[in-house]
Amino acid sequence: MDSIFELEYNVNDLKKVDEKSYKLFNRIYSFYSEVGTLKIVPSMKPLVLSYFGERDDSGQLTSKVEDVFENLEKQRIINIFNERSGQGTLYNSLRSNRPGMNRDLSEEIIKLQYLIRNSEKNCDFCSPEENTPEDVFGRVRGKYSITAANIAKYDVWSSLVIFKKHNPLEFNLKELSDYLDTAFKWFDMVFNEDENYKFPFFVWNCLPRAGASQVHGHAQILMTRDRSYARVESLKRTSHEYKKETKEEYFNDLYMIHKSLGLSHKSGNVRLFASITPIKEKEIIIISPGSPSKMDQTKKVIFNILRCFIDVLGVQNFNMSISCPSMNEDDDIPYIIQMVDRGDISKSTADIGGMELYGSTVVADDPYKVIKKLREYL
Ligand SMILES: [Zn+2]
Repeated sequence: MDSIFELEYNVNDLKKVDEKSYKLFNRIYSFYSEVGTLKIVPSMKPLVLSYFGERDDSGQLTSKVEDVFENLEKQRIINIFNERSGQGTLYNSLRSNRPGMNRDLSEEIIKLQYLIRNSEKNCDFCSPEENTPEDVFGRVRGKYSITAANIAKYDVWSSLVIFKKHNPLEFNLKELSDYLDTAFKWFDMVFNEDENYKFPFFVWNCLPRAGASQVHGHAQILMTRDRSYARVESLKRTSHEYKKETKEEYFNDLYMIHKSLGLSHKSGNVRLFASITPIKEKEIIIISPGSPSKMDQTKKVIFNILRCFIDVLGVQNFNMSISCPSMNEDDDIPYIIQMVDRGDISKSTADIGGMELYGSTVVADDPYKVIKKLREYL
C-alpha cells in the first residue's frame, strides 16, 4: 500500500476487510482510475529518451527503451472527487518526471540562499518598530515576533506577525510557538476592540512563490465579521451539512477514511492526514481539538511537519493556514491547519493554472510518499 495509483485496489480491499471504512469512503469520495493512451511518432524517439530516459552519472541510458515508451503511451490517471466539499484532484505519476520537473537541489539551495541574503539589505521587516505601521491598539510583542498593521489591508482587520529572524525557513519550536501565540493574542485584541469581528484566520505565505511580497519571515492575521472567509466558510458548511445528513462529524470521518487507507498519523489527540484530494502538492491537513496557541501538542505537530517539509522534502515556498471556529466558538468545527508546497524558487512557470482555478487540481506528488516521509520524521 504505497501509491495513490493503487487506490482502486486498496478501496476494493476495504470492501472485504473493513466494510465500515468502505462505506465511509463511498459516502464522501468517488473516483475513477483509467489508462490514458497516446502514440509516440518515430521522429520523437530521441527526444523522448533524452527527456524521460533515466541515465547514470556517465550519461549512459539505464532505463529500458521499451519501458520509457510504454510509460508514456499508457499513462495511469486517477481522478478523485470529494462529493461533499466539491474538491477534486487528478494524478498522473508521469507528471513528476516531465521535462523541467527534475530538480537539482544544490543549485536550488544556492539560489535560495542568494535570495534570502540579498533581501536582507534594506529589509523593512528587520526593524518593524520603525518601518511598519501599528494597529490602533498598538502591537502584540512576543519574544520572537511582533505584530504590525498591514500597510495595504486585505480586510478591515488585517495585520502581520513579523518574525524576529529574517530567514523564514530558520525557526525552532520555541520561535514557531511564539509566532502562533502572538497571532492568537492579536485575535483576542481585535475581538476586544470590536466583537463583531469574531472570525480569525491565520495564513503564512512563505517566500515569493507562495505569495509573499517580503522574503523576511511573516504571517498574515485577519479577523472578519458575519462569516468566515469564503473557503473556511465552505469547509464549515460542508461539515454542517454532512452532520445534518449523517449525524457524524465530517472531519472525523475524513480522518477515519485516510486512516483506513494508510495515509494518516496521530500524535496525542492531534490527528493529521495526507489528503487524497489535495489543493496542490503535498497537502497535509491537521485536525486540532483546541486552539494551536493553547495546545503544545498542536504546535509540536505543526513544527515537525514544517521542518520535515523544509529539511527532508526540500520544500521552500509553502502556504500554511489555520481555519478557526469563531471567537466565541459557537460554530462547532475543530481547528484545521493546512499546509501545501508551492514549488521551487527557480521555476519560471506558476504551479497553479487554469485547471486549479476553474477545473480540478492536477498534482504530481503522491500522498503515500509524503506521509511515509512524515511518519519517519515524526
Ligand atoms: Zn528582514
